[in-house]
Amino acid sequence: MSDTAKVNLLGLNRQALEAFFVELGEKPFRARQLMQWVHQRGITDFNLMTDLSKVLREKLQSAAEVSLPEVCLDQKSADGTHKWLLHVDGVDNAIECVLIPEKNRQTLCISSQVGCTLNCSFCSTAKQGFNRNLTSAEIIGQLYLAHHALLREGSDKGITNVVMMGMGEPLLNYDAVMAALDIMGDDFAYGLSKRRVTISTAGVVPAIKQLRESTDVSLAVSLHAPNNELRDQLVPLNRKYPIKELLAACREYVQGHNRRRITFEYVMLKDINDSLEHARQLVKLLSDIPSKLNLIPFNPYPHAIYQCSDQATIDRFRDYVVSKGIVTVTRKTRGDDIDAACGQLVGRVKDKSRRSQKYQLSLEKLTGQVNAAN
Ligand code: SAH
Repeated sequence: MSDTAKVNLLGLNRQALEAFFVELGEKPFRARQLMQWVHQRGITDFNLMTDLSKVLREKLQSAAEVSLPEVCLDQKSADGTHKWLLHVDGVDNAIECVLIPEKNRQTLCISSQVGCTLNCSFCSTAKQGFNRNLTSAEIIGQLYLAHHALLREGSDKGITNVVMMGMGEPLLNYDAVMAALDIMGDDFAYGLSKRRVTISTAGVVPAIKQLRESTDVSLAVSLHAPNNELRDQLVPLNRKYPIKELLAACREYVQGHNRRRITFEYVMLKDINDSLEHARQLVKLLSDIPSKLNLIPFNPYPHAIYQCSDQATIDRFRDYVVSKGIVTVTRKTRGDDIDAACGQLVGRVKDKSRRSQKYQLSLEKLTGQVNAAN
């Protein structure tokens, strides 16, 4: 069998992996063993999986593989933020994932698509257009790489939280994202509780409804504007699913799950959505939804048409919404020295050729440093 026909076991959830083993004429429990080898021990070579018989290992060699996205660049920021640039089709497509270390948790921000179809006017990913959906293996591969890098550095728990806030719209790549979520939550893989996994969406209403039926991960909604007129401009998806429908889906999502709140993300754009009048409208919208508000200082990038609100304006906005009883956090900007801050993923440069040139330069610099150190 040729390599291309091999099944990549990395992206199969337990159910799919059990079906795979049954097809090979094996017992379903092999799926649990394999998941532990791969996701918990970081072993991808079937030959090293010593509790599988030699015959089974040979069968696996010919029918399957465990194939990871290729790390093209691996950078650490002065504040500890760690970014990986990963190649998914040879050098044709690149995605990024970012690890944000904090005292008691290690949060990984992962991508769900190469590029994005939604074209939000303030987002740098939008500028590169849409290339394709990631497979479940490419999504979970980001967690694999970051988790095992942390363990190698001596961390005892590895990644503790995942946010799907990298490139792409996770709810427009539903099946692959769901398979990856299964693996994140599986006790034989990463065992992350649903509370520790957050899907961020620009508001794909039918998919929010579907999500409610099948899982109870935390939901973050990129609201960014308190009325349809403005939101139509910032998040064009609003023309299809306007605020009223979106908030109805959010209300439904939290129903019957009292502990759950929706996180609303609101990017602070100077003179666009940051006045006290906007704050008043926002408070009205959120008054009957269990919610938490995340104010995100806009991260600029070359050719951006917006600026970040100044600190005093952000504080005034925050103080107003807090005074009305809305739990609010102003997000800290992390890792901006390595372009890892929100909205900067990959999109630092305009076109792909210049992008690869830049990474080639960074790679040469890094390689030079490594060589000099040796
Ligand atoms: N498509 C999903 C997830 C990806 S974006 C979504 O829309 O939620 C993750 C978050 O970063 C979103 O809230 C997005 O609006 C925000 N974001 C994008 N570009 C940004 C920028 N330049 N500055 C600050 N936040 C940005």
